Amino acid sequence: MGKIRVGILGATGTVGQRFISLLADHPWFKLTALTTSERSAGKRFADAAHWHLPVPMPESVANMKLEVTRPEIDADLCFSALPPDAAQEHEAALAKAGHHVFSNASTHRMDADVPNLLAEVNFDHVKALAKQREFRGWTGSIVTNGNCTAIHLTLAIAPLHRDYGIEQLVVTTMQSISGAGYPGVPSLDVLDNVVPFIGGEEEKVIEETQKFLGSWDANGFAPARFPMSVHCNRVLVRDAHTETVSVRLKGGPGVDAVKASLRKFKGRPQDLDLPSAPKHPILVRDEPDRPQPLLDRDNERGMASTVGRIREDPVLGLKFVLVGHNTIRGAAGASVLNAELLVAEHCV
Ligand code: NAP
Repeated sequence: MGKIRVGILGATGTVGQRFISLLADHPWFKLTALTTSERSAGKRFADAAHWHLPVPMPESVANMKLEVTRPEIDADLCFSALPPDAAQEHEAALAKAGHHVFSNASTHRMDADVPNLLAEVNFDHVKALAKQREFRGWTGSIVTNGNCTAIHLTLAIAPLHRDYGIEQLVVTTMQSISGAGYPGVPSLDVLDNVVPFIGGEEEKVIEETQKFLGSWDANGFAPARFPMSVHCNRVLVRDAHTETVSVRLKGGPGVDAVKASLRKFKGRPQDLDLPSAPKHPILVRDEPDRPQPLLDRDNERGMASTVGRIREDPVLGLKFVLVGHNTIRGAAGASVLNAELLVAEHCV
């Protein structure tokens, strides 16, 4: 089988660069197009992009010419790292023109016919694509991956919701500055500081987590319903979000049972041995001072959520800490895994 032609929309940005590093040598996908806003179109990628990943810019990409985003793009699959307004303008037009769009933008995540896909958790939501194509008359499709904070929270609680059922949940986040893109949060705002507000983030974490953990049937998506309280904070960490979670589970399982539930968790990507699948989507650490963003964000090539400090909580029953890479599993890596899954399952 020849490689599938793929494009990156918004290729010069933080998530776009992650896509480049994940796709430059991908075994199934061949990069054929890179888009940017009009101000950089026509330039070589190397001349327009301020490369800020700690790995070299792939040589195969440096000379590629940047183009504006348009439905005639030379790619079957489009990985979108567009800002929400540009996603609103372009993603539906691309799907209408027959492209399969895997998007990081929040624009379509909560649409009634768009799967917000987390590959190990809700593959059944892909059934919504039949409705999407029928109602919208598209030959292509849009599949989103979620908000970076919601992705890691959901990975860590999905096995607990499946094995026991969540009754109540409180999460407090410490989110990295790369989560705001490049150049992102001004240094004078974040140096020596914690910013206790990220616009729209707490609402997204609640609605997306409940959509991920909910069900799909012929009538549409039915979100999981349990009360959630979310506090989101920006902290001076370069990459990876840390989240402290307190949760009430049905039956009040003990710490050992919870650890076992997390350790055995896997899904379709692991069964199919997909190229980007982490062997263990959740890693459980027993040391008292882990996980930490500096030490744990790159576990499983940035594709896992690492959970630790699992212990009893006097208020809700159980509490733990999780760390996950926001631009890999929380963004570009999640999209690539979603695309691999849909290709392997012949859904696109
Ligand atoms: P970013 O660093 O600000 O990059 C945005 C990119 O979009 C820039 O390269 C920009 O190109 C490009 N762009 C703007 N308008 C465009 C258009 N009409 N056509 C093509 N490209 C266009 O932002 P980011 O952090 O990568 O975020 C990208 C998307 O992913 C956003 O929707 C964000 O919410 C989402 N997301 C981000 C993260 C994260 O951790 N950063 C995680 C999950 C989801 P120019 O420089 O040429 O203008």
